[in-house]
Amino acid sequence: MEFTFTPSSSKNEREQGSHESVIIIGSGPAGLAAALYAARAELHPLVLAGMQPGGQAATTSVIENYPGFLDGIAGSEMGDVFQKHAEKFGARILMEDVLEVDFSRQPFMVSTYGTTYTADSVILSTGASPVKLNAPGERELTGRGVSYCATCDGWFFKDKDVAVVGGGDSALEEGLFLTRYARSVTVIHRRDTLRAGAILQKRARENPKVRFIWNSVVERINGEKAVQSLTLRNVKTGGETEHPFDGVFVFIGHHPNSQLFKGQVELDEHGYVRVDERMQTSVAGVFAAGEIADPHFKQVITSAGMGAAAAISAGRFLEAKG
Ligand code: NAP
Repeated sequence: MEFTFTPSSSKNEREQGSHESVIIIGSGPAGLAAALYAARAELHPLVLAGMQPGGQAATTSVIENYPGFLDGIAGSEMGDVFQKHAEKFGARILMEDVLEVDFSRQPFMVSTYGTTYTADSVILSTGASPVKLNAPGERELTGRGVSYCATCDGWFFKDKDVAVVGGGDSALEEGLFLTRYARSVTVIHRRDTLRAGAILQKRARENPKVRFIWNSVVERINGEKAVQSLTLRNVKTGGETEHPFDGVFVFIGHHPNSQLFKGQVELDEHGYVRVDERMQTSVAGVFAAGEIADPHFKQVITSAGMGAAAAISAGRFLEAKG
């Protein structure tokens, strides 16, 4: 989920919204697991889900490593199931982007475009967003051949030749998904060893549609109205070569969506929200869960686990507060 961090100019025109025990910001696996746990603890959580609910998981083609789903589950379907599960126990989910927060005093303030809510506790679960290549042509051609989401855009590349940049799990998993549509999928990696796990590596190497270009980075994305080719630089020789492609999918990692909380809670040097083992941030009553606070694991299951832990901690905090 991409949150828009535009400070509102209509601060004074916002309506005073409800007062809540728990507000959960974000609706990926962490936020919705937190919502389920908080709802079952009868805390009546309000989830401010953002305009594109479901988080990154919802844009993942298939999730094969969440226990209980033997045949895997589409990311979007998992988002729906998580949401229905939380709602079944009374969580309220609003598709609103949070634009401003104030955690400097109790009750905390959480503002969307038109409403300022107050809350006794808040759970931050705004996840992470894809890192961009920052190559010339990338911004101009985004949506015209440059994509960060195979599930969203793969269909447009039926019988086309596409490039996937990155050597991690996302690059291979989404690259394999793209072989359903594309004529060829070329993985461009800056080293000659993949970071991805063994199963995905084996599948990719065995797939006749998947090719690799090693030790190479994208220097430029070329094309006027749509992507036509990539200029690659070999990091060993320094030599540049141009390769025709109809599309390029970028999977080179993620950065935490924590800009909104800068100055409100402590962040580490990479922008992750610092939490203790109870998911408590530097502000008592503000908790964080999922990829916004996880530089290490970044799995759906670990995010959901952190969400559950954050909700339990929020419940204990509220109980102690009376
Ligand atoms: P990642 O593991 O951080 O991999 C990023 C890849 O992009 C690496 O191969 C990295 O190269 C490369 N890269 C980084 N910056 C680059 C740049 N500027 N130019 C070119 N290449 C660059 O990210 P991810 O694949 O998105 O995965 C994130 C997390 O989610 C991981 O913990 C992963 O295990 C998890 N995940 C798991 C699954 C699964 O279990 N099925 C699926 C998806 C994601 P180097 O290798 O040289 O660093």
